[in-house]
Amino acid sequence: MLEKYNEKRKFNRTPEPKGVVSKKSQKRFVVQKHHARALHYDFRLEIGGVLKSWAIPKVPPKTTGIRRLAMSVEAHPVSYLNFAGVIPKGNYGAGRVKIWDQGRFELEKNKHREILFNLRGKKLKGDYALIHPNSERFGKKAWLFFKRKSES
Ligand code: MN
Repeated sequence: MLEKYNEKRKFNRTPEPKGVVSKKSQKRFVVQKHHARALHYDFRLEIGGVLKSWAIPKVPPKTTGIRRLAMSVEAHPVSYLNFAGVIPKGNYGAGRVKIWDQGRFELEKNKHREILFNLRGKKLKGDYALIHPNSERFGKKAWLFFKRKSES
């Protein structure tokens, strides 16, 4: 599950953790603000012993009514939850990484094209969705990330 993650990195040249699949999952999430060639926000959910990951080019919404493109990227190791620092020049994803938000989540639905969850972060709180539209135009890696209207 972490082959792609490991392939892309040289661990004697980056401070990032090596990719090892974790035996336990604790339903944590993190959003890392990543000052790479293009600034983006990496959204990661702890599912199945790894961090399922998406790169969001614009700031993740705290309110309903805003949909963000989220590009699916390779799964990251659970130890990446705490990663912050500088990935040196010449490495994959070179640039500064800061933790923008983190916390726990509750998984409501985990389907091929639809993941529903409740986030309990400091900035992101409430019901959220990741939807992968079945459309040629949209592409294989493109998802939509948005806050759902709460039913209560
Ligand atoms: Mn990134």
